[in-house]
Amino acid sequence: MKVQLFVENAIRTNSWVVIDEETDDAIIIDCGGGYEKILDFLNTQNANLKYILCTHGHFDHIVGIVEMQKNNINVPVYINKNDEFLAYQLNDMLGILGIAGPYPKINIDNFVDETSELKIGNKNIQIFQTPGHTPGGLCFKIENLLFSGDSLFHREIGRCDLPGGNFHSLINSLKSKILTVPEQTVVYPGHGSVTSIKEEKLFNPYLK
Ligand SMILES: [Zn+2]
Repeated sequence: MKVQLFVENAIRTNSWVVIDEETDDAIIIDCGGGYEKILDFLNTQNANLKYILCTHGHFDHIVGIVEMQKNNINVPVYINKNDEFLAYQLNDMLGILGIAGPYPKINIDNFVDETSELKIGNKNIQIFQTPGHTPGGLCFKIENLLFSGDSLFHREIGRCDLPGGNFHSLINSLKSKILTVPEQTVVYPGHGSVTSIKEEKLFNPYLK
């Protein structure tokens, strides 16, 4: 599994590109902008982009998807139903990113939850519903890689003071689901640097 990071927009959102080297199938997990760079990268890797997963519906994680769609590049987009309302609020937030709108409404192709079956190549993607940062927050685990969105960061957790946020839900999501995965799992968050479940169990002040 190859993982490539792209950091875009005024609040430096991580967009993760994952390539299954057995099949050259690729997915994007969140897209904060700069989709041209991502598509160029996929070209150089001879990888086939299959779909885009959203860890949640916040504007800074979906703005690049809407830019793609605006330019008639259509790749299936998956999000949790409980965050649909957030994804439709993009235009209210573009000012924070210094972008002049309006943008078209995002096209969502499918809603996913813990019962959904998704694959990259022949590998299953395990889906965790982790409400708290947003009601429809998701984490995705592929082999020993966990994409945690804004639920879990390096020695930090996501903020819970935005619409639909709930601190107790987030702590419960992380303790009951995310901390149960193997300690050697590498964590790729929605902002900031890569960490591991082991490191977060030891040093994250919210999870001790
Ligand atoms: Zn967020």
